[in-house]
Amino acid sequence: MTIMDSLNRPLRDLRISVMDQCNLRCTYCMPKEVFGADYSFLPAEKLLTFNEIENLVRIFAHLGVKKIRLTGGEPLLRKDLPLLIEQVNKIQGIEDVALTTNGILLGHYAQKLKDAGLKRINVSVDSLSPTNYGKMNGRNFPITRVLKSIEQAASLGLKIKINMVVQRGLNEVDIVPLAKYCYEKGYTLRFIEFMDVGNTNGWDMEKVVPSKEILNNLQEVMPLEPVEPDYLGEVAKRYRYKNTDTEVGFISSISESFCSSCNRARISADGKLFTCLFATQGTDLVGLIRNKDLTDEDIALSISNLWNKREDRYSDQRVELSKKPSKKKIEMSYIGG
Ligand code: SAM
Ligand code: SF4
Ligand code: SF4
Repeated sequence: MTIMDSLNRPLRDLRISVMDQCNLRCTYCMPKEVFGADYSFLPAEKLLTFNEIENLVRIFAHLGVKKIRLTGGEPLLRKDLPLLIEQVNKIQGIEDVALTTNGILLGHYAQKLKDAGLKRINVSVDSLSPTNYGKMNGRNFPITRVLKSIEQAASLGLKIKINMVVQRGLNEVDIVPLAKYCYEKGYTLRFIEFMDVGNTNGWDMEKVVPSKEILNNLQEVMPLEPVEPDYLGEVAKRYRYKNTDTEVGFISSISESFCSSCNRARISADGKLFTCLFATQGTDLVGLIRNKDLTDEDIALSISNLWNKREDRYSDQRVELSKKPSKKKIEMSYIGG
């Protein structure tokens, strides 16, 4: 089954935040000045259980979702995460299950994740420089430990993508060294433009390095050629190093918005459904699945009705919207990046 929104976009991709807490405090996501010791994270009983997530994924698969990404916060902080991967992997209609992590606990979990059926992992690494990595992760966590964890996962055959958020004046200098490192290791590197998610990361257009600029700078050192998109709605623009199979991707939410093909929904760790990363409010799903009087068909109908009305295209409208008094946006660590 395929459901369409009001702009003719199908629902195909679901991101689930399994945890709003994190062991890092990246400046662009959970700045430590805001997410400090007195910040109230969700209590454990508010988090969706694995069985509830499984149930929701089954309903979403029936509505046409094919890809699931588990994220957070830091998903590997969620106890027994490999069990959830195993549960989700078995659901009919789900073709791809992926995980986005900061990699800190990856060494410990790599084998269990692989055994659970995970095939690919995105790891966030913004710099190879200990100083810049330490500064951007807000906890001065050493880069060497993350790189070792990634190598462990790669040696088990897990496909690795590295996510790098680029910020003007901070880690532009790290672009080429990280690109060379990923090329040598055979990891796909994806450059992500710094986004105005949430309300706390001090976003400013001046701090965004447009993908075109990154591409041009990288091309001077490492020649690239474009790769055709694999499917409609592919978020990253892909290139490969000439005469190789190693790719880099560019996620240009700011400079080249891709709302017109956005087929993605998100579920927060406490079970609210969001139809856009920049949403100001979500729809309670947990209340629906905990209501014994409702069948899966009833819940599917509610989701389908909501999707049919969807008209989100924040990135297309960013400039106009930024001139209006804005409502509070949801934080990325809560909604799931
Ligand atoms: N903790 C995990 C991690 O860092 O990979 C998963 C959650 S994190 C919110 C998911 C992705 O969002 C990461 O790749 C992170 O770099 C990205 N992200 C967070 N804040 C961002 C921002 N303001 N702009 C662009 N990407 C951001
Ligand atoms: Fe944590 Fe990921 Fe956000 Fe960094 S980007 S603070 S690792 S949730
Ligand atoms: Fe999708 Fe919203 Fe991002 Fe546009 S701004 S691509 S609708 S998540």
